[in-house]
Amino acid sequence: MTSLTEFARAHFKDYDEFFELKTIAAQHLNQKETADWLIAKFKELKADVVEEWNDHGGPSNIFAEFKADSDKTVLFYNHYDTQPEGDVNDWDSDPYQVTVKDGKLIVRGALDDKGELVTRLILIDYLKQTNQLPVNVKFFVEGEEEIGSSHIVEYTNAYQERLKADLCIWEGGAKNSKGKLVVSGGLKGVSCIEVGVETANTDLHSSQASYAESAPWRLVQGLATLREVGTNRILIDGIYDDVDSISDEEKQYVEGYEFDPDKISQDSELARPLLTDDPKLALVNEPTITINGLTSGYQKEGVKTVLPRFAKAKIDFRLSPNQDPERVAQLTQQQLIKNGFSDLKVKYLVGQPGYRADITDPVIRLVLEQAKEVYGPTGVQYVLNDFVAGPAYAFGRNLGLPLINYGIGNSSSNMHGANENVLFSDIEQVLILHERILREVNKQG
Ligand SMILES: [Zn+2]
Repeated sequence: MTSLTEFARAHFKDYDEFFELKTIAAQHLNQKETADWLIAKFKELKADVVEEWNDHGGPSNIFAEFKADSDKTVLFYNHYDTQPEGDVNDWDSDPYQVTVKDGKLIVRGALDDKGELVTRLILIDYLKQTNQLPVNVKFFVEGEEEIGSSHIVEYTNAYQERLKADLCIWEGGAKNSKGKLVVSGGLKGVSCIEVGVETANTDLHSSQASYAESAPWRLVQGLATLREVGTNRILIDGIYDDVDSISDEEKQYVEGYEFDPDKISQDSELARPLLTDDPKLALVNEPTITINGLTSGYQKEGVKTVLPRFAKAKIDFRLSPNQDPERVAQLTQQQLIKNGFSDLKVKYLVGQPGYRADITDPVIRLVLEQAKEVYGPTGVQYVLNDFVAGPAYAFGRNLGLPLINYGIGNSSSNMHGANENVLFSDIEQVLILHERILREVNKQG
């Protein structure tokens, strides 16, 4: 029998059609076709259970289960939707045609997330065909991750029993710029709000500023009370109460995180000094407040001496995994009132809580040990949680599944960008790691 990696090399092209389906959630494009394609594929791979879940809104979720002679189960989370291709002129090849060049697979979704899913399907195909599937394997594949997974909690709540597992392996990831495999134990949270103020029923002549308050002044003066000048410290009472504590062991991982402040300052030509002496800890664990944009008054050519009647700001908070996005919005409103800005109205727009795996959980330790076996003792970078947000909380927090993430990308994979690509050599390494993890989970008492 051929080896797993030989098998993968021979079978990757079985999935060209899947990559070439232009599945764009933002445009509601081909979600049904892609779900149908996957359902047929799971059946062809002889999954014991294949179900289409669409009874709680949104595009179809696909659930599949491959049963083995084991009382252990691993759940893979993936999504079949992709980002739009962007400007095709930025691509060196057709974004929806599989291109293989210099040991790379180049196509929209090569990494995020079709490529990760295909890698997993090939693994299960191989293990089934060689009668070696060591544990029960479940797949949950959704179709709207790239636009915020707005229905996922309904599905994870409704199908809790079916989604039970001993370990959830998240959608995937990448090696860092030093070539180390990044294994992450979760995601940060995010809370998006709008802060608005109105000071009159019409725009006024700016001569009236001698006696009339203006909306943009109220807005910027109110917002300015929420962050310390020149640091990342948020001046909202209670906002740090729910920030996760970090154990000594976790601290070591944070310190080991590769982050070069000088390089980042140079690359982005940062005009100001960093906001913190400890950017690593801030990235992993601290909340941020960011003004994403401000709207008010006249911004076009020339001058218009107007006193604007309204002003608005869009703001996001990146949150420590344990923080509650809606509570953050409430605290912001309370603080503005306390600071004398009760006319500034906070509106909660959208958010996602974070999630962080328990580093002392034996199954999380097992994944890290196996990663070091495959990538070498210094070839793995563990991050307590990614710095971005995502729906991992629906599984990790709501369902209480230990959850971990790693994948086939590298620091030049251009996820979401042009020429999205992965290296076949990385796919092969991840296949070996997946296989080892399935075997070891089965052995675990
Ligand atoms: Zn993704």
